[in-house]
Formats: sequence, C-alpha cells, structure tokens
Amino acid sequence: MVSASPPTDLTLIQDFVNTVDLEDGTDQLAIPEQLGAWLAEHGLDADDAFSHEDRARAVAVREALRALLLANNERPLDPDAVATLNASAPPLALSLDAEGRARLEPGVGGIDRVFGRLLGIVARAQADGTWARMKACPWHTCHWAFYDASRNHSRTWCSMKVCGNRAKAQTYRRRRGD
Ligand SMILES: [Zn+2]
Repeated sequence: MVSASPPTDLTLIQDFVNTVDLEDGTDQLAIPEQLGAWLAEHGLDADDAFSHEDRARAVAVREALRALLLANNERPLDPDAVATLNASAPPLALSLDAEGRARLEPGVGGIDRVFGRLLGIVARAQADGTWARMKACPWHTCHWAFYDASRNHSRTWCSMKVCGNRAKAQTYRRRRGD
C-alpha cells in the first residue's frame, strides 16, 4: 500500500499550491505579512520582509505550479505557466557540505531564494519519478493539489465524494439531455 501523503518535499509544493481555496476564496497569502509567516512556518524563511510585488510574484508562481499539476492530470500545459516559472527561476550555485554531499542552492536571497527552493523540489521529484503523481483536481472551480498514491497513477479527483460526484452528476445530466 502506497502512502497517501507525498514524499516530504512534495508536501511543501502541495501545501504551497493549496494556500488558496479557489472555491471559497480563502487565501493564506493574501498580504505580504502572511506570505512571510507562511514561509517561516514551512522552513522557507528568506530573512526578508516581503513587498506587495513579492507577494504578487509568489501568487503567480503558485498558480503556475498549479498549471503543472493540472498537466500531470492530463490537462494541456499552459505555456504561460512555463514562461512564469522560467522567469522566476534563479541561478543555482553548487556547493559541497562537510561530508562531501553536493547541493544546488539558489545563489540569491529574498523571494527569489524561495522560488529556487520550490523549483529545486520540482526538479528532484521529476528526476526521481514522484512528480507525475503530484496532480491538481481538474474540476473547473476546484483545482486542489493532491498526491496520487494509487498503484496505477489513475486518480483524477481531489475527492470522489466532492469533485468525483460532481463529474458523475454532470455526465448523468448530459445523458438525460438536460
Ligand atoms: Zn476537486
């Protein structure tokens, strides 16, 4: 049985994408101070006060990551999302720690450092094959991020009870011709 939770690093991506609930509009990153608090809580403290521009860029990166997760769920990949992430990716610097382990770290500070760490997680997950399981729910008002722990990567909906049933009801109405 595969665990329903993503590997630790991917939990961070999932939690970041899910900082907004698109259905009720609750956004945990609504103001720069909230962004700073959220990042500190998740071990991504960038040692800086964030500006409104930083916050706007973080939200753009969040939504671009969501687009990648939708593409992992068989939706077409939005080219604007790729452009946003490319524009947000900082240069990475290679360094070795005392035990000789090599690491790539963003060579910048502030919000760019945070983007570098998030995109570093994406790169590692793509390399180890876990990325394909990070998905976003395709229901048009939902788009919640989740980890697909099913054996054959076949999970489509964030929840069968919620969006799975919405989709079933829609199919049923179409068949009836409503
Ligand atoms: Zn959903």
